[in-house]
Amino acid sequence: MTPEDLRQYLRFYRDLGFEEVYHREPPPQPVVALPDQPSASTDLFSDLMSNDPRETLEQIVADLGACTRCRLHQGRTHIVFGVGSQKAKIVFVGEGPGADEDAQGIPFVGRAGQLLTQMIENTATREGLPLKRPDVYICNVVKCRPPENRTPEKDEMETCSPFLFRQLEAIRPKAIVALGGVATKALLGASTGIMQLRGKWHDWRGIPVMATYHPAFLLRGYNAAYKREAWEDLKKVLHYVYG
Ligand code: SF4
Repeated sequence: MTPEDLRQYLRFYRDLGFEEVYHREPPPQPVVALPDQPSASTDLFSDLMSNDPRETLEQIVADLGACTRCRLHQGRTHIVFGVGSQKAKIVFVGEGPGADEDAQGIPFVGRAGQLLTQMIENTATREGLPLKRPDVYICNVVKCRPPENRTPEKDEMETCSPFLFRQLEAIRPKAIVALGGVATKALLGASTGIMQLRGKWHDWRGIPVMATYHPAFLLRGYNAAYKREAWEDLKKVLHYVYG
């Protein structure tokens, strides 16, 4: 861990309300293989799945093309499809791209994205898992930036979310994390607010879904207290996926 990593790590836990940090022995090695450490059984699984009829992410990108299916295409710079491996065990679903994401064509690269990366990597480190951001898959409900970062309209979500669903079917992760109310609504069809749904397991086509807060919500100073709940939600996901 570099000094900058350590600084970020400490900052993250201070924000969660931890005031003291103790040195301890290195955490035990995980008892299950992580995505970058395929085991023999994973290789066997890959062999068995070689005739898998599922779509590839590349096929979905090709089908999406230079999409103009909804009005959000008018103001975009880039379509922000998703980032990560098709073999990811966890998929994070956000709402839609912001300015930084639109400029770079990559989801969650702005301030909220940096917080998401910290949440994933620091929580994994604390739980003794060498999980890094590239090991998960990250995408959004809509793939073009809504003007002024407004919430996507119902018809925009209905037009774009089939591509999200195809991404999720292509990956079939062990768990999905819905970040915020829009993603939760798109996946669960629920009208209940995120405050009631967060921290509990739900289901999307047989895949467990954990609903939690969107990192942009946690960045607003007066919501900092909710960081701890988001951290607890993420811990539940890591424990479920990696044992
Ligand atoms: Fe197409 Fe989705 Fe962009 Fe709308 S938001 S133009 S459906 S890619």
